[in-house]
Amino acid sequence: MAKKKSSVPKILGEQRIYFKNGETKSIKSRIDALKKLKNSILKYEDSIYQSIHDDFRKPRLETYISEIGIVLKEINHVIKNLKKWSRAKRVPTPMEYFPSSSFIYYEPYGLVLIIAPWNYPFQLLMSPLIGALSAGNVVSLKTSEFAPSTSTMIRTIIEETFEPCYVSVFEGGIPVSRALLNEKFDYIFYTGSSEAGRIVMEAAAKNLTPVTLELGGKSPCIVDATADLETTARRIAWGKFFNCGQTCVAPDYILAEKTIKTELIELIVKQIEVFYGKDIQNSNDYARIINNKHFLRLRKLLDKKKLIYGGEIDKKNNFMGPAILDNVSLDDPVMKEEIFGPILPVIEFENVYDAVELVNSLEKPLSLYLFSNNKVIEELIINEIPFGGGCINDTVVHVGNPFLPFGGIGYSGIGNYHGEYSFRTFSHAKSILKKSASIDISLRYPPYDEKKFDFVKKFIK
Ligand code: NAD
Repeated sequence: MAKKKSSVPKILGEQRIYFKNGETKSIKSRIDALKKLKNSILKYEDSIYQSIHDDFRKPRLETYISEIGIVLKEINHVIKNLKKWSRAKRVPTPMEYFPSSSFIYYEPYGLVLIIAPWNYPFQLLMSPLIGALSAGNVVSLKTSEFAPSTSTMIRTIIEETFEPCYVSVFEGGIPVSRALLNEKFDYIFYTGSSEAGRIVMEAAAKNLTPVTLELGGKSPCIVDATADLETTARRIAWGKFFNCGQTCVAPDYILAEKTIKTELIELIVKQIEVFYGKDIQNSNDYARIINNKHFLRLRKLLDKKKLIYGGEIDKKNNFMGPAILDNVSLDDPVMKEEIFGPILPVIEFENVYDAVELVNSLEKPLSLYLFSNNKVIEELIINEIPFGGGCINDTVVHVGNPFLPFGGIGYSGIGNYHGEYSFRTFSHAKSILKKSASIDISLRYPPYDEKKFDFVKKFIK
């Protein structure tokens, strides 16, 4: 049964007691929890496809790649490495502290809140959950109200797998989120819009609770004249229209070098039709906009004067076909907000420094993609533009590598996760210097005199 707002303090109280009892701390109990979660996901695999399809007609293969497969891979990776990551790590100690040794111990924070968005409703809840469990925490999960079938299915999985004092699911919208944020947590992990991210951070600040904020923004895709245009077009079309463009790391807009812009657009159009056919609304491989509110928001961004391809709409079914806008400028509405849908604006540049300047005039993006065969330009883009992470000659796939930290910078987020980075995010690094009592050098103790002072100055620098 969905939990009521009023039950929040009681459940959190029980979670705190469970954490204090130490049940979640041993590495064995963490690995057991992850194995149980994995088995439940495998058991409910068919329901996961179905519920995400019910929410926005997401194709099965897209669901496997970006919701189920990626989560299973993450669990397997964590189970394999957890013992190694969680060991106390010995670090060097400066001479002046002789005789001693220094260590970093990784301990769970305690009670963790994870708030998820709707666009990858399963992965973006499960992936941080894996990190929080691997670090030995107890967890409260807040699903997104905009993917209701997936939310119900997640509740079924979690309630069958864990006692509510270990992992609890709260369903509902902003009031439920607020009720949770009114409580004190030891860590808050939030994924969603930058606007709501501010509200989460304000609530966390009241209790000085540390946060990770996985936010959004406008991720550029820069294509220069040296790129292999056919492959570039295919990889851009895939990354942009996967999940119907509702991907935080989707290429938001293209910056194309003037000499190849027209050819690139033609190749992207060709690729869209190879992927989805000419009757895109009847393709089983193309998802829908999550709800009418987002559909209407996107429809406003479809500037008829700049639309050069696609953009068919069916309001009743929240359908919008892939759309390309040309000759776009920063003054156009489509460049004033994160698009988060299947609209692809194209802006041309003559000199790569102009492209760098344009990107740097906007908020720091979550991702950036460069298509180029010029190594000098590659280094220039990596070094001159701040962004969360990205790819050279591909889109989106950096997110799937558990060895890379995933997170934004500035407006696109604070902190990161995935693989070992998740374990570190959800663990407090406790520094310990262990000293022997056998020798006690008196230099640091009063009474101080000039000789001691001179000696200390020579020694510590
Ligand atoms: P959202 O901010 O509307 O909602 C996210 C979560 O926050 C939901 O659970 C919602 O109930 C809650 N929430 C919303 N408003 C709130 C408020 N005022 N107070 C308390 N809680 C509130 O985001 P969304 O529409 O679900 O997701 C889209 C956004 O998320 C996009 O900006 C996208 O780029 C971003 N996103 C980022 C990542 C990432 O990993 N960096 C991943 C997916 C989505």
